[in-house]
Amino acid sequence: MSECGETRPEKALESLCFVKEVKNRCRICYTCVRECPAKAISISKSQAIVVPERCIGCGNCLKVCSQQAKKMVSSIEEVEALLKSGASVAACLAPSFPVEFQAEFDFRVLVGMTRALGFDFVTEVAFGADLVADRYREALMYNKGRQYIATTCPAIVGFVERYHPDLVPFLSPIVSPMVAMARVLRSLHGPELKIVFVGPCVAKKAEAMDPDVIGGPDAVLTFPELREIFQHAGITSNVADPCDFDPPQPRRGSLFPISHGMLQAAEIHEDLLTNDVVATDGLHNFMNALNEFAAGGMEANLVELLSCNGCIAGPGLSSKENLFQRRARVSHYASYRERTQDQEQWQRSIDHFANLDLTRSYRSLDQRITDIDEHEIAGIMKRMGKQSDEDELNCGACGYHSCREHAIAIHKGLAESEMCLPYVINEHLKTIVQLSDLNDRLATTQETLMHSERLASMGQLAAGVAHEINNPLGVVIMYTNLLLEECSKDTEFQGDLQMIAEQANRCKRIVAGLLDFARQNKVAHQPVDIRELVSATLSNLPQPENVELEISHEEIDPIAEVDRDQLIQVLLNLVVNAYDAMPDGGKLCVRTKGDDSWITFEIQDTGMGIPRENLKKLFEPFFTTKLMGKGTGLGLPVVYGIVKLHRGDISVESNADPSLGPTGSTFRVKLPREARTHSGKGVL
Ligand code: ADP
Repeated sequence: MSECGETRPEKALESLCFVKEVKNRCRICYTCVRECPAKAISISKSQAIVVPERCIGCGNCLKVCSQQAKKMVSSIEEVEALLKSGASVAACLAPSFPVEFQAEFDFRVLVGMTRALGFDFVTEVAFGADLVADRYREALMYNKGRQYIATTCPAIVGFVERYHPDLVPFLSPIVSPMVAMARVLRSLHGPELKIVFVGPCVAKKAEAMDPDVIGGPDAVLTFPELREIFQHAGITSNVADPCDFDPPQPRRGSLFPISHGMLQAAEIHEDLLTNDVVATDGLHNFMNALNEFAAGGMEANLVELLSCNGCIAGPGLSSKENLFQRRARVSHYASYRERTQDQEQWQRSIDHFANLDLTRSYRSLDQRITDIDEHEIAGIMKRMGKQSDEDELNCGACGYHSCREHAIAIHKGLAESEMCLPYVINEHLKTIVQLSDLNDRLATTQETLMHSERLASMGQLAAGVAHEINNPLGVVIMYTNLLLEECSKDTEFQGDLQMIAEQANRCKRIVAGLLDFARQNKVAHQPVDIRELVSATLSNLPQPENVELEISHEEIDPIAEVDRDQLIQVLLNLVVNAYDAMPDGGKLCVRTKGDDSWITFEIQDTGMGIPRENLKKLFEPFFTTKLMGKGTGLGLPVVYGIVKLHRGDISVESNADPSLGPTGSTFRVKLPREARTHSGKGVL
């Protein structure tokens, strides 16, 4: 394959990409990933980014992105500079131009406007298409049995080079109409001529720069870019002098932008009986056709593929018309050309360029994903909750065809696991459960805190009252005792005085209890064997006959630094309450547990249990459900005070409703094993 005798320097693949992302516009819908045949979009930090070396320039991502988060690289400045440079410049309009402009003005007006920009020649690429069509017909005629993949669509060429490199030898060695026309113009007007192609395609920008394509245009504009240049130059249809295109003029090459148009121009018939020619277009069809071709399942001699639904649906068109209206515009123009064409003149032009070199070469630019670490893929799948075949929904929400393809893309740094919708939903559900769990815990903590605060303020009040009462009470008790000593035993006052002394002492005990609750007493920390403490407490307490007692100690170091007397008080109060709760008998379990830092006492009874509504009031002074004279409601507040003085904790679990299960209560007292340096007076 010759290349016009020239060679071009190698170019980095990245420099052949003319599609870029627009920062921070992406709303991660993954439509571009889904619609990209080359999977040249990576998702990183929730933004879609074009991977230049993988991009084939089909422009699908430009068409499908509703957020305009992709843009094509503009060639406007470059072309405006060319026009100002003083060089001779030719414009070559792609045969899809009627789709862009015909609705607004006649093609002659468009030519006049283009000329007004400063172009020395305004020509039609369709003549290059006529030449190319001829070469295809010859190739098929003289190379019977050879299979060709047509190369008129640069996105298809890019796709084969990158993702089907084994099919590169099947790419037809014929240049595209754009390059053919550029070579025609240079052979007519000299090698110095600068050429600007104007068309509907982004991939053409890369084709013009491709080191394998010699003699192509110097710059490529899309139709909207041409509109912008008109605007910059203040050129409108009113100011232009209408005129026809410069020669050579085309015939059926004008049909090229329509699917099968090349076949018609070349008078190659897609005979369904012989299956010699296969033509298809659009993302899925062309990929399927190439896969089938690669698998050896295609007999056709010529496979004509277009990446868009024909060039009339290219990304470089601003028309809002539907596909059939666009098709009609191209057909009408082509039939007009055919009707008004000087057939002999056209044939002379074709013959004139019969020997023009229209060949080119291709190379493998392999971008297939290889070196797949199956172990890694399995790990990624597992992390996304895809443990079995049933978990692989292959729903396509991520933009990839299958979960496995998605996992491979993650493995290669092209995708993120958050793109998987079922995975994200699952994660959100987990978070919701965690949050509601946290919420519950927060609510419980808040309630406990409020409870502690309530008890603390009660303690403050109790402490204040107790202090005030303590002194006068001491005086009453002292004087009562003095009077008792002075008063002979048989006087009538003796009994009354004893009554005063007894009741005053009772008050003193209550005051002492309140001071305990308010943590106004001191703690005398000393190493205590908690097993011995339990047995000492229980042995001093008569055990009801109908109550079974079980004591158990976990295998731990039994020594803890506590106030022995206060702890006996705690155990006594809890055990007495437990006995009281089992008037009809039951079982009392006293357990000790612990670890290096804490020791825990557990007092569990099978008694009547504590109703839910009472649980909150248990530690409040004077709360009792016992009969008058039997309970003071100070037992648990004293326990609470002592436990807090030891910087410990007390909790209760209880069930008073037989319909919910066995009734009974468990009080748990947890104390630090070692006394902290700060001890003594409690802080409320
Ligand atoms: P008192 O024993 O003088 O009533 P406490 O402060 O020791 O005062 O107890 C307050 C209340 O808590 C008791 O009246 C009783 O209703 C309830 N209570 C405490 N321990 C138990 C228990 N083990 N089982 C059932 N109720 C209990």
